[in-house]
Amino acid sequence: MANPDECDTMIVGLGAMGSAALHHLASRGVKVLGVDRFVTPHIHGSTHGRTRIIREAYYEHPCYVPIVQRAYELWAALEKEIGERLFVQTGGLMIGPPEGELFAGALRSATEHGLAHTILEPAEVQARFPGFRVPRGSLALHEPRAGLLLPERCVEAHLALARRAGATIRTGITVTGWTADDGVRIATDAGELRARTLILAAGPWLPALVPDLDLPLNVERQLFHWFEPASHPEWYDAAHSPISLIEYADARFFATFPDVGHGVKAGIHHEGAVIDIDAPRAPASAAEGVEMQALLARYLPQAAGRIVDRATCVYTNTPDHDFLLDRHPAHPNVIIASPCSGHGFKFASAIGEILADLATTGETSFDLGPFAISRFQAPAT
Ligand SMILES: Cc1cc2nc3c(=O)[nH]c(=O)nc-3n(C[C@H](O)[C@H](O)[C@H](O)COP(=O)(O)OP(=O)(O)OC[C@H]3O[C@@H](n4cnc5c(N)ncnc54)[C@H](O)[C@@H]3O)c2cc1C
Repeated sequence: MANPDECDTMIVGLGAMGSAALHHLASRGVKVLGVDRFVTPHIHGSTHGRTRIIREAYYEHPCYVPIVQRAYELWAALEKEIGERLFVQTGGLMIGPPEGELFAGALRSATEHGLAHTILEPAEVQARFPGFRVPRGSLALHEPRAGLLLPERCVEAHLALARRAGATIRTGITVTGWTADDGVRIATDAGELRARTLILAAGPWLPALVPDLDLPLNVERQLFHWFEPASHPEWYDAAHSPISLIEYADARFFATFPDVGHGVKAGIHHEGAVIDIDAPRAPASAAEGVEMQALLARYLPQAAGRIVDRATCVYTNTPDHDFLLDRHPAHPNVIIASPCSGHGFKFASAIGEILADLATTGETSFDLGPFAISRFQAPAT
């Protein structure tokens, strides 16, 4: 692009969502500019930590299933185009009490959408996956299509293909504000930029870019720990072990990720402190490591050996934990993308396509009703 300050669409944030949107727009021949304050992928936002779970029997709500099914197709297409493995199919276990949010929700999505699945009693889980222990009274829903995505490589792939298709990428630029009428003027620390359409995919920094909407988002500190199995490492590698989500107490979850070269990863879903994204983040403490190890030992006993690595990351949460994916209520040429609440990565390939559709046609074939900004705005009196 000759004049990067004159483009059809500008994307703020080149993490999971912005890099995917950049790829889809550039592939359609749109003059697109992506900017990020950091060189992505990086460790300051929500898209690092080597692996992300993708699963189809979506316990959160069946409305996510069509989007994740499109995401599977697009991840496969991305792998093919970049010529690199981005997805590791392991199958997945959703473990919890039969009436619990996780098991019952996954079963509902599997049933409503006719998804392949098997329900396993604790002894059947152990017979099939010897590294797992499921307590009596709990069940596991096994879904064969679940697995792992490699998030940093996915972002790199989207950016590389976007660049190849003609996108302009500028890093080390912080967007500080914008105004919109027929077009959008974007204020940055490197001067003003202009576009016809603006996509805000700024992850945990999004609220500062739409102060007028007073979005009820909070940023939550999250942890990953990686463990060296104490014995039977072959039980926990990605060739033999599924990913798992475990409801270990009422509506309290943790996730496990089989070893793809750095140990078995585990992380508690939510339960973290609400933090200021611009303040220094406390590293994982020894006590937090002990807590994670004890929880892992209850369900994957031999996996819970020595801690070999740990990292912090952040969720950007909505109050209902559903995504925010909508056009700005007052400025239809400004699109807001906050698909996080701790479960957005798997959808990024499809959300990139949805954002490209919204930016070019104003429409998408997916039902974005559950992700509307209006659900958080008081009705006019
Ligand atoms: C611990 C953890 C575990 C998770 N596990 C899973 C999982 O297993 N499966 C799953 O599907 N999802 C998971 N998620 C959620 C998923 O990772 C996120 O939904 C997703 O990464 C969010 O991507 P994003 O593009 O919105 O944000 P980010 O990737 O953080 O990107 C935002 C980008 O915007 C840039 N930016 C921000 N403000 C500005 C500005 N003013 N100017 C310029 N650039 C700016 C930032 O530098 C950043 O690069 C997990 C998240 C965490 C933290």
